[in-house]
Amino acid sequence: MTKTTKPKAIATSQIISSRNTAVSTQRQPMQRAIRAVYDSRNASDKPVDVSKLLDGLNQPAFAQLRRQVATAHIKGIALFKCGQCCEPVFLTAGEGARGDGSTGFFRHHVGDKACSWRTGETLRSEGSVQFGGNQEGERHRQLKQLLENSLRSDPGFSDIVVEQRVPTESGETYRQPDLMARHGNQLVAFEVQLARPSLRTVVEREAFYASRGIHLIWVTSSNDVFNLGAQAFRDLYFAEGGRIFAVDEASAQRSMEMGKLHLQELTIEPQVQPPYATFNVWKAETVGRNIIFMPKTERHWAGRAKYGQRLQEQISSFDPALVHRLRHAAAKGFADSASSKDWNKLSEMLGGVDFTTAMADGVDAILLLLLRIEILAHCQPDQVRDLKEKAHRQIMAILRTSSGRHWLALIELVAGIVPRLALFGSAEVSTAITALKQDDRQLVNLHLRHRRMLSALCPWLAFDLLAAAPKRKTVQRLALRSNDS
Ligand SMILES: [Zn+2]
Repeated sequence: MTKTTKPKAIATSQIISSRNTAVSTQRQPMQRAIRAVYDSRNASDKPVDVSKLLDGLNQPAFAQLRRQVATAHIKGIALFKCGQCCEPVFLTAGEGARGDGSTGFFRHHVGDKACSWRTGETLRSEGSVQFGGNQEGERHRQLKQLLENSLRSDPGFSDIVVEQRVPTESGETYRQPDLMARHGNQLVAFEVQLARPSLRTVVEREAFYASRGIHLIWVTSSNDVFNLGAQAFRDLYFAEGGRIFAVDEASAQRSMEMGKLHLQELTIEPQVQPPYATFNVWKAETVGRNIIFMPKTERHWAGRAKYGQRLQEQISSFDPALVHRLRHAAAKGFADSASSKDWNKLSEMLGGVDFTTAMADGVDAILLLLLRIEILAHCQPDQVRDLKEKAHRQIMAILRTSSGRHWLALIELVAGIVPRLALFGSAEVSTAITALKQDDRQLVNLHLRHRRMLSALCPWLAFDLLAAAPKRKTVQRLALRSNDS
């Protein structure tokens, strides 16, 4: 069972004291050197305002966009170009930043031509710290040894090699994984990561091993959870559904006892703990090969699903039928006056926004849309067209309301999760979206304000709306699963 410990220190901002989220309490918009960029994903040839592009992105979405930019870059494609000089730019988080889009900004590549928007650009790195030269940290050596011992205790692995060069197909260059082994027909490379790798290093290595058909596993330390708050690590674990492997004495011990490889898996989980607003914690669990070898895409989606499920389980432990009742009420447009009481009960539990404010922001219409999109995502193929058209009509109705443009980021986020929604399959919807993007008025990003209640009522959105690097160093250990392989 989960061991729950009360957090030792909690920021006052996390304590649910005020639920009043008037627009004036919003963070000041960040001043960015590059204020507008050309977005190659857009049909429009006008530069878009960077604050509109980034401010609404939570940590997982920001990490995903960074990855898309970096992955395209190594293929020679510029997803974004400076709105002033038209040179390719990349997305950075800045050092010690919040890690979501609100503190993210674009930067020029070093050595590009002069641009007036270079002025004021920070030159600090984003915390990508490498071990100097050949001086590997002692801790790194220890972890590598523990991992090697774990592999050697498992007769399923053969050809275990330490720091052996793997040439590229052309033979011009090579990579040198910390450890490599053969498991059946599959070659597996392990990279022990304690320093903060640059995103470019990460995507280049991933592309390299993928091109050679080698399964790459990033492994870190389970004792240095504070380090995991750095953007460099967020780039790694948000791509895998908020999960990262670690090796330690306990996992090595387990491997030897069982004669099978085991690692720790650190997973971000939501923590519902009134009177605190729902926050994130790391959970550690010893896992076997069934998890270690899970394909990355599957691991990503399973991690996201588990995040939503854990949120549901915890809410249920306080009130088993509350979410069910509220979803039912949402489907009826909250016509029943009793729903406000249920709403406020749940919002107080999570540190969410009260019923009156939520309705004033148009959350009722958004929830109706989200419930319909859930059905679209799971319906039979012959129903897709009809349900999609209904969803598009609803989106148009929302976008026409006074709060509609503040929901655009959520609608785009949902379209990324449910490809069947195909926003750009409708000329009317895509025209409306393009027009709203050119709208100069400031955005409120209502999905951030209402993220806790939307996550509770639509758990498939919870990871995208709520998951963030846990602020505390605490790792809660789970009991070993009895079914580990
Ligand atoms: Zn420029």
